[in-house]
Amino acid sequence: MRYAAITVTVYLGLSFMMLSAQTTGYPDALYSRPERTRYTETSLHQDVVSFVESLRQKSDLVHVETMGTTFGGRTIPLVIMADPAITSPEEARLSGKLIIYIQANIHGGEVEGKEASLQLMREIAFGKMRYLLDNQILIFCPVFNADGNDALGPNNRPNQDGSPYLAGQRASGQGYDLNRDGMKLETIEGKAFMEKMILRWDPLMLVDLHTTNGTWHGYAITTAPGMTTAGHPGTTEYLQNELFPWVNEKVKERAGYDIFYYGDFYEYPPRTFYGMAAEPRYLTNSIALRNRLSILVETFSHDRFEKRISANIAYLTSLLEYTSVHSLEIQNLTETIDQEVTQEIRSSGGTMQKGVTFEYKQPGQKTDLLVYEVKGGKRTGKRVWFSDVNLMNQYSAAKFAVVPKAYVFPAELAAIAAKLQEHGIEVTQSTQNDTYFGESFTITRLNHDAISYQGHRMASVEGSFNGGSAVMPAGSWYVDMAQPLAYLIFLLLEPASYDGLVVWNYFDDYLVDRNVNSVAVTYPVFKVFSGGSGILSEGLDQDKITAMYNPISGKISVFGLSVEHPSQIEVTTVSGSMIKKLNIPAGRNNCEIELPHVATGIFMVAITSLGKTIVRMVMIRNME
Ligand SMILES: [Zn+2]
Repeated sequence: MRYAAITVTVYLGLSFMMLSAQTTGYPDALYSRPERTRYTETSLHQDVVSFVESLRQKSDLVHVETMGTTFGGRTIPLVIMADPAITSPEEARLSGKLIIYIQANIHGGEVEGKEASLQLMREIAFGKMRYLLDNQILIFCPVFNADGNDALGPNNRPNQDGSPYLAGQRASGQGYDLNRDGMKLETIEGKAFMEKMILRWDPLMLVDLHTTNGTWHGYAITTAPGMTTAGHPGTTEYLQNELFPWVNEKVKERAGYDIFYYGDFYEYPPRTFYGMAAEPRYLTNSIALRNRLSILVETFSHDRFEKRISANIAYLTSLLEYTSVHSLEIQNLTETIDQEVTQEIRSSGGTMQKGVTFEYKQPGQKTDLLVYEVKGGKRTGKRVWFSDVNLMNQYSAAKFAVVPKAYVFPAELAAIAAKLQEHGIEVTQSTQNDTYFGESFTITRLNHDAISYQGHRMASVEGSFNGGSAVMPAGSWYVDMAQPLAYLIFLLLEPASYDGLVVWNYFDDYLVDRNVNSVAVTYPVFKVFSGGSGILSEGLDQDKITAMYNPISGKISVFGLSVEHPSQIEVTTVSGSMIKKLNIPAGRNNCEIELPHVATGIFMVAITSLGKTIVRMVMIRNME
């Protein structure tokens, strides 16, 4: 009895102090640090861990996993919320619900996404927002850069104007910017993000919560879609044309906040507003190359802490209302894009071109822009509209390369294969010697930046492509491009890609060993347009099919055809020009092909049966 009486006293005391808290009546442990300190302090990593643990104990909608452990030894909690709860990706898939990943605090001092995540999780678990789980599973990572979050200082975020007074640092515990790791995947957190989040759960949407660095536009929140650049444009278009307009209007209606595209301007009055960078080293852009929706959310740094949290909650709530209603539509969209990418490689690999470097599309669209007014060189605190501002937030390719059907590279480059596999890319090793036709790149110069960036002196190569063939021994690494991650592979492996593995020094050792910059060196990744046994080789019996030229008869003989099914045979030049096409009925295991007069050289014989194709190379020598 005595114990109960004391409990009541304490409870009443607290209720007096926290009026808003009392009315909703959450347990004490479910108030965040800013709520408990009048928004003067932000949650430390340990506060987040305790909050999440309380949530897990008190709610039956919550499952908690650990994404990884940072350099500084801090765990990165992942909070998986579903109604009913689920505990594995298999259960998530069986539920048929959309999976959305909300990540905060990738830059340790940008803290409101973390606080908004905590409060929103609580409102979903115990408040009025449980409906947000109707058609979707929400996975929160409130403190991604846990080490950076706890490296508190008064001057880490000067543009947040001491609100909160102490904030963490931008870099990770290892000193890296985690939002530059999308391609190289070298940081502890970046690797964990890929393995324990993206590959394990395959969320169809990533929301990455940041704070701006000081620009004086007039918006509470600015956003950017993941830039698909070389990839399928479907996700970017869906966000720009469908989701953003609805969500932005909803936030305005719900909370009065103005939302616009993320960007910055460098003169007053503003004439041009420059948007999000396009390089896939930024996580939202790398996720876009995986055919998934991703949204960069940047809260306005000059707003007070409480307002920044409130704007984040308003944005996330509106966004999640949209995704809940469009859960099936989004699942269909990403599935269709996965299939279209694979199909596009099958039909056009070896002929189509895509960008390997990108620039702002000129000219941008004209837009109205809300910014803080400047008068007599001073900001007045009033927001004003400007019209006819050039909006530069779309990209077009500046330099192109052919998208191949596959890439193949020597067995010794196991580190390259491993890096691709870390991204979830399918890589196989060939089991036989193969001849491929396509392109190789001759490097005449390897350049390095003078200054180190993210632990790298970034590299670029000069040189040119040459058509030709490559004989690759068994054990070579083979990357079939007919997979949903084709355009991620493309930007990782193309030698001239502006954010590929060449840039991040993955080929330096190989090239330096071969005296690059003294002699021309062939880039070791061969681009396959045809040939080899790896391309669509199931079905027809690989070992039995042979094709050879008989110089006496002047015909090509093909052996080992399927007896059960008809076959189609196409003879082409190496560059793909059709020489002869014929149909062989079922019941014959060989045939002869009479050619029109052709020049000597190498020709491709493609034998197709039941939709499977095997390609053989035939050398024709003129006997005259
Ligand atoms: Zn940031």
